[in-house]
Amino acid sequence: MNKTVSILGSTGSIGTQSLEVCEKHGLKVKALSANSNTELLEQQARKFEPECICIYSESKFSEMKSRLADTGIKVLCGMDGLCEIASLPQSDIVLNSVVGMVGLLPTLVAINSGKDIALANKETLVAGGELVMSLAQKKGVKIYPVDSEHSAIFQCLQGNNRSQLSKIILTASGGPFFGKNYDDLRSVTKADALKHPNWSMGNKITIDSATLMNKGLEFIEAKWLFDLEPDQIEIVVHRQSVVHSAVEYNDYSVIAQLGVPDMKIPIQYALLYPERMPCPTERLSLTDYGSLTFEKPDYETFKCLTAAIDAIKLGGAYPCLVNSANEEAVKAFLNDEIKFIQIGEIVSSILKNFKRLNISGYDDVMKADRQAREFVRNSIASAK
Ligand code: MG
Repeated sequence: MNKTVSILGSTGSIGTQSLEVCEKHGLKVKALSANSNTELLEQQARKFEPECICIYSESKFSEMKSRLADTGIKVLCGMDGLCEIASLPQSDIVLNSVVGMVGLLPTLVAINSGKDIALANKETLVAGGELVMSLAQKKGVKIYPVDSEHSAIFQCLQGNNRSQLSKIILTASGGPFFGKNYDDLRSVTKADALKHPNWSMGNKITIDSATLMNKGLEFIEAKWLFDLEPDQIEIVVHRQSVVHSAVEYNDYSVIAQLGVPDMKIPIQYALLYPERMPCPTERLSLTDYGSLTFEKPDYETFKCLTAAIDAIKLGGAYPCLVNSANEEAVKAFLNDEIKFIQIGEIVSSILKNFKRLNISGYDDVMKADRQAREFVRNSIASAK
């Protein structure tokens, strides 16, 4: 493989697995970035020898520079550095796996410079779906989904006529609290919420999986990636995370993609598309699983999921508002400032407290983002 790659968020769970895939298939890594993990970023930089790296946290900039002072690697920092990496002329494809809204601007910059995108940053499409998709179309760049569900749908669309698609079936593991009711969730602790049954992931997405906000964000992401109406998306709880999603065509034939729950499969498909080569993971043995189960989600208990779906139906800035409110609420939960169930209450309250705002550019997204965060911080402060 002589593809060249830049990886944004290389020290996170997706980032480290992406580097494993690059190493296995000999993809050249041209740039790396991390939020604040200088030690791991240094190790990665020494191993993969990129042209430049970016440490997002400006307070770590001088430390990062001295760590790599004996190498020829250029060290950048902050959002400017992230955008420089995203538009690096030497890279063919940008894998964006940064956490949160921070990922939106680098995605737009990469698309503007004609890079194909392997997208693991959900917020890019949740908050800026319309902007991102229209820019990608204008620039003729491809967006390859890295999320396992969206990769599954993308794989099920190969070789078929997109205009004959009737709906998609987005599977959800249900998270650690599947089967519990709203009252049961009152006593949930941070340690409970950080235990995911099938996937090992970063803290933000693990909490989002426990609240089912993750599935709500994926619902919005799917709408933009595959140009669907909300009523063409069905969510099904599938505890084993083996069927990664499915699509239904007009003849009611349903095609699904299956595999072990390991992100390296969708990462590799996005980076190597359309090639398929042995992946550094296990093979699926259906008989080891024996049975696969499918159930309806509980929209009453998991308020974040309902709020996210309502937000995309309402349109405008609502998806961005619920996403930003969720980011702030999860941060507060991880800081022990609020209880688990308050995350859902806060995210739902955003819909009632904001009038419809339209998004016509990046500044509108950032304005909605600021307003949602301010609203959440004020409501947490006033509840204390
Ligand atoms: Mg997913």
